[in-house]
Amino acid sequence: MRKNIVAGNWKMHKNQKETIALLEEIIAKKPQTSTEIVVAPTFVNLAKAVEITNGTGITVAAQNMHQAEGGAFTGEIAAGMLTDIGIKNVILGHSERRAYFHETDALLANKVDTALKHEMRTIFCFGEELKNRQNNTHFNIVEFQLRDALFHLKKEDWQYIVLAYEPVWAIGTGETASPEQAQEMHQFIRELIAKVYGNAVAENVSILYGGSVKSDNAKEIFSKPDVDGGLIGGAALKADDFLAIVNGF
Ligand code: 13P
Repeated sequence: MRKNIVAGNWKMHKNQKETIALLEEIIAKKPQTSTEIVVAPTFVNLAKAVEITNGTGITVAAQNMHQAEGGAFTGEIAAGMLTDIGIKNVILGHSERRAYFHETDALLANKVDTALKHEMRTIFCFGEELKNRQNNTHFNIVEFQLRDALFHLKKEDWQYIVLAYEPVWAIGTGETASPEQAQEMHQFIRELIAKVYGNAVAENVSILYGGSVKSDNAKEIFSKPDVDGGLIGGAALKADDFLAIVNGF
């Protein structure tokens, strides 16, 4: 059966000293739980994060990577460089990557393929913008994002995929999708995957919700049957807030 996962996307926050302090606090206060805890610090702090979390059961993820195996791509990081330091998870397709770095679903399809080649698990982010929800095209948008980036995958590839539905209008805005809106979309996504890949793949894939998840709303959102956890931004930057969300299950 699918896993419950709470992942902290630290974005461009926390220098090395702060990364170590936050990880040590999370480790010290971490509850006994079957929920998988994932942290995604910045690239420069990944090696340190792997070292500190070793043996704690906490998973470390990168926030991005390049689709090429290596080469003349100034400023970029290859999948093999990540696995080399013990990183087996990568967040791809975050709305900030899409908006500020022009990442398209076609590009993301390539990145997912590269991650798979390296047996890395992808936390694949997608979600509609406010205008899509207002003109009632949010289901279509989400369907196209998944189709264009992921539906070329083989059935067996899905063991390496975690989905993260993050409606853009709810990210960093303090505005959260209601638990009902989250459930409605997650159910739509699971049914879509069942149609394309069959029930077993659909039932086994974890679908996380992201967008202004806080300790005071996590429990209700996570209580919905098709919500298998969260991808947390702002509230992942303080150990107590983050672990309160983990305790939402
Ligand atoms: P916030 O939790 O700050 O809204 O960010 C969500 C997010 O973008 C996680 O990837």
